[in-house]
Amino acid sequence: MEAGQPAYRGQQLFEALYRQRVEAVDQITTLPNSFRSELTKNYAAGLPQTQKRFVSVDGTVRYLIGFADGQSVETVWMPEGDNGEQGDGSEAGEEEAAGGPREAKGGRRRATVCVSSQAGCAVNCQFCMTALLGLLRNLSAGEIVGQILRVLQEQKVSPESERINLVFMGQGEPFLNYENFMKAVRLLVAGVGIPESRMTVSTAGIVPRIRDFGGEQVRPKLAISLNASNDATRDQVMPINRKWNLATLLTAARQFPLRPRERLTFEYVLLNGVNDSEQNAREVVALVRGLNAKVNLIALNPGPEIPFSAPEEERVHTFQQSLIQAGIPTFIRRPRGRDIYAACGQLKRAEVVQLSA
Ligand code: SAH
Repeated sequence: MEAGQPAYRGQQLFEALYRQRVEAVDQITTLPNSFRSELTKNYAAGLPQTQKRFVSVDGTVRYLIGFADGQSVETVWMPEGDNGEQGDGSEAGEEEAAGGPREAKGGRRRATVCVSSQAGCAVNCQFCMTALLGLLRNLSAGEIVGQILRVLQEQKVSPESERINLVFMGQGEPFLNYENFMKAVRLLVAGVGIPESRMTVSTAGIVPRIRDFGGEQVRPKLAISLNASNDATRDQVMPINRKWNLATLLTAARQFPLRPRERLTFEYVLLNGVNDSEQNAREVVALVRGLNAKVNLIALNPGPEIPFSAPEEERVHTFQQSLIQAGIPTFIRRPRGRDIYAACGQLKRAEVVQLSA
């Protein structure tokens, strides 16, 4: 180790920071005093700070989490899991069979944390509020993990007390901060004790990184933001499609090595009159046919400056039925925390009237 300390000091630091979640280096009592003061002088270790919290009527909490340099991101706490719609790979109803939605197997409660990988985002999807921030910066692996630890601490839970699912679906494109994202995954598995089987990462379709990701020893499940059924529409709503089009993306999806019992998720944001017709549904079927995949439909979560609207509920159901009848497992993602701008595509540090403490 660099600081002229024995190698096991690194393990002690790791244990303290990630397992015991100490707030400051001088609380790491396993380290000798001299080393502690040395560290305190040089490193601002500890968790990122909660700057704001917004509580939804549905129990969802949106946290604004601030880092040492003043940059901030949002992290969303969703109690009671998500009944499968959040893209964590579990099926609706699976948990009910195991003792009701509030109880996971083994009697533990469950919850999902939606994690940011970058401050802002460079991908510029036309329906997403995060795009309006532009890319502010990448988060370090420590900052990605730190967000989660801060939220667990705020909620007074641990991976031992509650079954925690993680979805890397907050601000940013995880596959454009690939190394730090993967490092965070490994820290979370080894240090925090959250298994990768409870993690899902969503990508806008960064094809070379999808291939890299398939080769990782330890990795979350994969969700791909499809969001359009043909290149003409996808070029419009997700400009990244001009770099990696649907054929390239679907080839990567077909080549992706799935583990036993694993399947891919495709997310499809329904935009009224843009990608929600019967014809669009048929095109989606043609794209994903033969893949071991499910589709999660998300009715657009509206926001200021977003030039689209959400389809009527009936249209969402019709779209779902078309896919199901073609043999594609299709779920409708329940919006969480829309009233506080915490739902998919709404993370832009928006101010709302605080509803409750
Ligand atoms: N950058 C990654 C991670 C974000 S995940 C990705 O694009 O996959 C967030 C999910 O919410 C994505 O599937 C995205 O397409 C979807 N989304 C973005 N804006 C939305 C909005 N306004 N309403 C509903 N879903 C939206």
